[in-house]
Amino acid sequence: MDIESVPGFTVRESGGVVVLVPDFFGRLGLSGGFSARRTKSGRSLDLDLRGDKDTSAILENRRLVAEALHIEPRDLVIAEQVHGDVLAAVADADRGRGAITPVDTIPGVDGLITTSREVSLGALAADCAVVLIAAENTPAVALVHSGRKGTLANIASRAVDRLNAVGAPPQSLYAAIGPAIGGCCYEVGDDIAHDYESTFAWAGEVLKIVSGRAHLDIPAAIRRQLAIAGVRPEMIFGAGLCTVCKNDLFFSYRREGAAAGRNAGIISINR
Ligand SMILES: [Zn+2]
Repeated sequence: MDIESVPGFTVRESGGVVVLVPDFFGRLGLSGGFSARRTKSGRSLDLDLRGDKDTSAILENRRLVAEALHIEPRDLVIAEQVHGDVLAAVADADRGRGAITPVDTIPGVDGLITTSREVSLGALAADCAVVLIAAENTPAVALVHSGRKGTLANIASRAVDRLNAVGAPPQSLYAAIGPAIGGCCYEVGDDIAHDYESTFAWAGEVLKIVSGRAHLDIPAAIRRQLAIAGVRPEMIFGAGLCTVCKNDLFFSYRREGAAAGRNAGIISINR
């Protein structure tokens, strides 16, 4: 990943695999971070097992990324991701669901929360944001897959509520918003702009008109939602990397279409 510097994150490389790790992970005893689309030598790091793929190559990609993120690939738990607003609680027994086959992913959800040290939560995306959230003094972590629909449904704030319910109040939370399509590149139709305007009083802050077309800034919307849910603004870290502008570094559905691979965001409480 040729990134000079991303405030709040560290770009780390091991064996040619470059990852983006939120700085608070080290302080809080977490493993994980965000993957890039290829290794330094040019190997694709598509992490999506769905579709007509060479499964063994994808599993090897997951192994490489897991190693760089300091997690065990067999600990991964992945949600089905249906662009909804539902989170599932993940326990020890869920370890490995979605890790080797998409068949046993946690169905019907876009967010995961856990207090288990036996699992690593993972989400896949190409333009949608993956948000990793952790508590300062409580072993509790969550992630959400938040694209246009998930953000409209405010899934990030639901994750904050769920963490609060397991003893991690919003003021104790850190959040990292991964690479995602930015307001620079995400042109949306008037219907979508209207949906946001009629749902959020602050929609004007995240919708801009560029050359007569509405552009939606999803990472900015998520940042706003987290802050409204009670997360301190100074504890919310956005990678600020647009998957379309930085398509050389990250997969983008908008740029590449249905053939686009998937980047991952992963979070795990260290054992
Ligand atoms: Zn862009």
